[in-house]
Amino acid sequence: MNEQVLSLRLKKVGEKVPQGARLADIGSDHAYLPTFLTINGKISYAVAGEVVKGPYESAKKQVAKNLLSEKIIVRLANGLAAIHDEDQVDAITIAGMGGTLIRQILENGIKQGQLKKNETLILQPNIGERTLREWLMLNGYGIVDEEILEENDKIYEIIVAKPVGNVHYTEQELLFGPFLLQEKNETFIKKWQREVKSKERVLGDLMKAHVVPRSKVAEVKEQLSWIQEVLV
Ligand code: SAM
Repeated sequence: MNEQVLSLRLKKVGEKVPQGARLADIGSDHAYLPTFLTINGKISYAVAGEVVKGPYESAKKQVAKNLLSEKIIVRLANGLAAIHDEDQVDAITIAGMGGTLIRQILENGIKQGQLKKNETLILQPNIGERTLREWLMLNGYGIVDEEILEENDKIYEIIVAKPVGNVHYTEQELLFGPFLLQEKNETFIKKWQREVKSKERVLGDLMKAHVVPRSKVAEVKEQLSWIQEVLV
């Protein structure tokens, strides 16, 4: 992967960014995504935020190499602290992290006033999609698009959300994704067939434990029955 040829996962994330957006890419190791989108005329301005010095330096080098330092501002910052008011960001990408971390970054962004709640969020959690969808719902973000894809034997979900005010999702929609559940494509089926195997293993281990945590057993059984329902 480089700034000219993205991984399929990052390419799909980029496709969800609105044309002409002022983007903040948070966790922008190498700044591949904002560089690719700028070179291809998709975005007009970007902030590339990185909290770790090494990836921040790589992002800076990448942007300078492509002579894009006026259009892509690389900042060493934790989460949405990379965004300044004058950036007038209207889209935020956070990709390649766990859902819990993405949720925390968004939550801090609200507390610190960097998330204005008028931005389109394009999120690609590696795991923990449910907790992220729950945060979106609790914070008045509606899910407007989702995608599931497989690359190198790993399955990824992309969630696009916009502020809509009141929104409600069922437990099943939070777990499976409202759009993904509707579509139930081949990759979705594959993901949840894998999950059945993994949850059956978890259940087996729980049953072997000396003290069986009943609430955990009940939770895993409930999720297994939802998955089995969805897979029929
Ligand atoms: N977004 C790229 C992608 O999807 O390929 C890079 C993903 S990489 C696995 C995650 C990056 O996020 C790392 O470079 C890490 O340093 C950065 N990161 C983790 N927590 C962060 C935070 N709170 N704020 C900014 N960057 C963060």
